Amino acid sequence: MVELLLRNAITLDHPYHFDLAIDKGVIAARDSHLDLPAEIEIDLKGHLVIPAFVDSHVHLDIALMNDWKRPGRLKPFRSPRECNELVEQRRRSFTRQDIEQRASKALELAARHGITALRAQCHIDSEVGLSHLEALVAVRERYRHLVTVQIVAFPQQGLFGHPQGLELFRQAFRYGADVMGCASNLERGSGVDFRCHIDTALDLAMELDVDLDVHADLSIPPQVTLEDLEVVHLALRVIERGYQGRVAAGHLCALDSASPEVAAQAIALIKEAGIHAISMPDMYRLGREDPSHVRRGLTRVKELLAAGVNTAFASNNVRDAYRPLGNFNMLEEGLILAYGAHMDSIEQLETLLRMCTYNAARILNIQNYGLEVGCQARFVVLDACSPSAAIANQAEKLLVFKEGRLVARNSQTSELFPPPNSFAHLSFATPCLDHSS
Ligand SMILES: [Zn+2]
Repeated sequence: MVELLLRNAITLDHPYHFDLAIDKGVIAARDSHLDLPAEIEIDLKGHLVIPAFVDSHVHLDIALMNDWKRPGRLKPFRSPRECNELVEQRRRSFTRQDIEQRASKALELAARHGITALRAQCHIDSEVGLSHLEALVAVRERYRHLVTVQIVAFPQQGLFGHPQGLELFRQAFRYGADVMGCASNLERGSGVDFRCHIDTALDLAMELDVDLDVHADLSIPPQVTLEDLEVVHLALRVIERGYQGRVAAGHLCALDSASPEVAAQAIALIKEAGIHAISMPDMYRLGREDPSHVRRGLTRVKELLAAGVNTAFASNNVRDAYRPLGNFNMLEEGLILAYGAHMDSIEQLETLLRMCTYNAARILNIQNYGLEVGCQARFVVLDACSPSAAIANQAEKLLVFKEGRLVARNSQTSELFPPPNSFAHLSFATPCLDHSS
């Protein structure tokens, strides 16, 4: 007797109806027809089942810092630098309670949208110390049943110039951080160049035997050489030090500024170094000064995928000083990338679904991920009858499971009314949805 039998599912790899048996938190069996007794049996009638979404890069400690009820910027976007200064200014009023409250809401929102694992960037610097980390560690434990959280020690004020030096970062790992962060663009005024910053972060990751997660090549200069690219320096060092497969690099926007020949050489090195690539929805951030032919600021997603680089996309900023939009909804981010990266064939839309599931899970090194027998039963039943429809229709996540347990159910209803006119039975059970309180 298994706990749950799902009949007539389709998946990314299997467009024909088949059955999935779930027991003790894992996929116990799958076949075109399972003849098994089950405590509960659900006929999915051809709905798409995918492994649960993974958000591989999100700034959880600053997420949802804006007014939920009235999204949008208070002032027009000026520059990434000014947005960063705004974050620094506003975080001075953060309290541990406030960070915990926002991160809790964020994880609830993520679970509602079918995310059961995410990698959270978390400010570590001498100004905030470990206070953001303390809040995220508490929330990570409290919400373990909904979302598995990996915490990145993110050097919001660089790696140098702190009185405690790198000891602050070592402390962060003793306190519960999982992954070393790296962002050379935040080494402001210290005179440290990107090579030194990357080398130092890689050294520390290797010393602590943790993965490294790099913010790389965040700008789109008019042109770049191979040597200008941060990710090229990173790849060469990773190969030299033998740390292949342990490093992810997000943004990679400047790859798009390189000539096709230079970009191809860079991508070959990224592949050789086993670096995972993460595209962010950077279209809101870059190209704002372009008077015409406005650039999109995205990395070369299709070329990275074609070269066999494990490539995902992630939400990065959700309703914070950088991006006033976002919902922890990977189908929404996927649709943005479909437009931005010109990915519109049936196969490419399917690829987008793989990027925010299988590919992102590889970045977080999630074991037993997928829908094969023996995998952890973390999956989403979508209101879609094909993978491309999931993106195009922005399908509702009907059921969300984590370790075989139902964690969220959502529904979308729609009715059309023929005459005669009637307002009977119309009522609102709850006030307008508010995630801020
Ligand atoms: Zn980021």
